[in-house]
Amino acid sequence: MSLLRSLLIKGSESAALARLVRDRAFARRAVRRFMPGETLDAALDAAAGQAALGIATTLTYLGEQVTDAANTAAVARHYLEALDRVRARALPCEFSLKLTHLGLDLGRDVCVEMLERICRRAGETGTFVWIDMEGTPHTDATLDVFRTVRARHPQLGLCVQAYLRRTPADVETLIPLGAALRIVKGAYREPRALVFRTKREVADAFERLGARLLAPDARRAGVRAVFGTHDVRLLERLRARARALGLAEGAFECHMLYGIRTAEQRRLAAEGVPVRVLISYGESWFAWYMRRLAERPANLWFVVKSVFA
Ligand SMILES: Cc1cc2nc3c(=O)[nH]c(=O)nc-3n(C[C@H](O)[C@H](O)[C@H](O)COP(=O)(O)OP(=O)(O)OC[C@H]3O[C@@H](n4cnc5c(N)ncnc54)[C@H](O)[C@@H]3O)c2cc1C
Repeated sequence: MSLLRSLLIKGSESAALARLVRDRAFARRAVRRFMPGETLDAALDAAAGQAALGIATTLTYLGEQVTDAANTAAVARHYLEALDRVRARALPCEFSLKLTHLGLDLGRDVCVEMLERICRRAGETGTFVWIDMEGTPHTDATLDVFRTVRARHPQLGLCVQAYLRRTPADVETLIPLGAALRIVKGAYREPRALVFRTKREVADAFERLGARLLAPDARRAGVRAVFGTHDVRLLERLRARARALGLAEGAFECHMLYGIRTAEQRRLAAEGVPVRVLISYGESWFAWYMRRLAERPANLWFVVKSVFA
């Protein structure tokens, strides 16, 4: 990982820097490139715009590491309202949430209770919910909460990170459940021993996991295979593999982030690949935005331009 990348990820963990930057007009201008706005209404309007283009969406209410019970309950209530609003507008939206936003740091049981509330409403509204994967201090707890809640709520999926050496073993335990799995490369600063180090190694690990989800036993088990990446060459390799296995377009879905590689999102959708765009919203965008900068430090240029805009 380059020095700039690790500085940006370290910066994402700083509450002092978040306070310093969050209300600055230039930062708000820069962040608009990756999120349509801070409100649920802005996210729903953007989802409607994507739907008009034939592209479905996933909504994420930004926030993480909430360690206060009242705030955790407020986050759960927000998701309940958002689920109702999506149904009222008949939008093709799913949701993706972070367990530390739902009280994981307060204890497993609080988090399970909050997630169950959301999943019950999601079941009533016919909506699918994803769990994001956070840093390794939370990996075991996230898998545990996922397994517990999914046993009662099948419309729950999990993100897994290709850069973690442990992920293939985790995935082997999830395939027999017929789980919905979203593979991503991984966005956190991790101890060197736990992760693949080079971009090439991570892309190869992603490709192996992707191939695993396309294998006949995984498909028989009912696995929903989602590849969350903007790495189009990697996607094309997996697409070729799916074709070689005789699978139709649609054997896997491609999920990308709002505002990143938009032309590719539309090309893939036009070619019949199910594409879903993840739209983030909310006021707590600082840590999330810093991770987007770390993924492509060239994005710092937009921040510089926003200072002078
Ligand atoms: C739908 C979705 C859900 C995600 N959920 C999680 C999660 O739960 N946990 C987690 O750890 N990570 C998550 N991520 C982030 C992921 O781990 C990567 O950090 C991120 O996707 C960048 O890696 P990449 O696969 O796009 O490949 P890269 O090799 O990083 O990027 C490929 C190309 O895409 C473009 N690109 C990528 N990122 C950016 C950017 N920020 N700005 C501009 N261009 C860019 C560039 O052209 C780059 O060359 C998610 C990503 C997506 C798309």
